[in-house]
Amino acid sequence: MPEQLSPQLIELRERCAAFAKDHMLPLAESDRASAAVQVREASKTAGLFTMTQPAHAAGQLALCVARETLAAANPPALDAVFGPGAGVLGSVGEPLASSHLAPLLAGEKRGSFGFTEPDDAEPTAGIIDGDALTIKGQKSYVTGGADADFINALVRIEGHGPSMVVIDTDTQGVILEKRFNSLDGSHHAAFRFDNVQVPVSHVIGEPGQGLPKALRQIGDVRLLFAAQACGYLIWVMDLLQSHLQSPDKDGAPRGNKDVVRWHYADLRIKAFAARSMLYRTARLADAGENIVNEGMACKIFATECIGEAVDTAIQLVGGGALVDDHPLALLYKKVRAWRLAEGASDVLRLNIGRGILELGKGRI
Ligand SMILES: Cc1cc2nc3c(=O)[nH]c(=O)nc-3n(C[C@H](O)[C@H](O)[C@H](O)COP(=O)(O)OP(=O)(O)OC[C@H]3O[C@@H](n4cnc5c(N)ncnc54)[C@H](O)[C@@H]3O)c2cc1C
Repeated sequence: MPEQLSPQLIELRERCAAFAKDHMLPLAESDRASAAVQVREASKTAGLFTMTQPAHAAGQLALCVARETLAAANPPALDAVFGPGAGVLGSVGEPLASSHLAPLLAGEKRGSFGFTEPDDAEPTAGIIDGDALTIKGQKSYVTGGADADFINALVRIEGHGPSMVVIDTDTQGVILEKRFNSLDGSHHAAFRFDNVQVPVSHVIGEPGQGLPKALRQIGDVRLLFAAQACGYLIWVMDLLQSHLQSPDKDGAPRGNKDVVRWHYADLRIKAFAARSMLYRTARLADAGENIVNEGMACKIFATECIGEAVDTAIQLVGGGALVDDHPLALLYKKVRAWRLAEGASDVLRLNIGRGILELGKGRI
């Protein structure tokens, strides 16, 4: 449980809360780009920036504590606090270690993740001939792809199977077909690969072993979403507490009405459950356990809880909460994407069911 943290994690939690208060919340009026630059620089000085990087390798529990605490302040530029993680490049040797991993971690190159494909497209496929891999296909929702130097893409290599391959975006035949934005404010790209040739050394690990690598990265991002969702749940609960303790038109506390109080208590129960799941799962991960099922469960539950919490909070606060720049209206837009990104809730539920019923796997 969150309460039983080590002294080091309590210090981390306090440092993150102070960081959000001192370095992030004052930037609320800044434009997004300049807030991100300022937060990034302050985060380097505060020793938070490198927490996601291999050399510093904070455990999952520490990352969850940090992410939840920062999100609980609902500050601007939350995504700028931590530097890029290694993701699927985590265990690469040369030449990718020098050509892509080191510049990625140093912030000199930007990477992106190409997994999702358009419904009507053939799976992205590659053929190895000597030292070259030729790739044809499409990727449809590559976050940050239009500004990325390379895409870590899932490619089915003939004779080997699904493999993760590094594709530089300036390679001949890489066509940026579309750049688009989603409700949460992030931007994405759709790519076509028209006989793109990359060196075979751009295959990450052994050909055919890409799916577990991709799923490991997706699993880490699922816990990230769950931790941020739990942080935002704390923020919504705090906002509702002061709203419900404030007087209505007749001078009585708004929370005196039974139906209002019922909704509030119900949200608190769900927030308690979401946080309990998150902390238990992070501890299992740090103990070296396989948390595929727990990670999916945390992501489904926490992202659905925060969706419900923001929706209910808007209902309880009233129309003022729907005005464009109200923090609840902004949060509503931000968290909706999480029920689809890194696996739709419906599909993840089916995966958990399949794991238990057909494969005999999973503790939950
Ligand atoms: C903000 C955001 C960022 C993203 N970033 C990336 C990225 O960087 N890289 C990347 O590769 N992708 C990215 N994605 C894509 C994301 O992974 C997909 O949107 C997600 O996996 C769902 O796939 P889909 O959109 O194709 O929907 P679909 O797979 O078509 O699912 C839509 C709905 O259909 C139903 N459904 C689908 N399949 C099944 C099934 N097997 N059984 C039962 N019901 C089913 C479910 O109700 C599901 O919710 C991002 C998406 C978002 C919203």
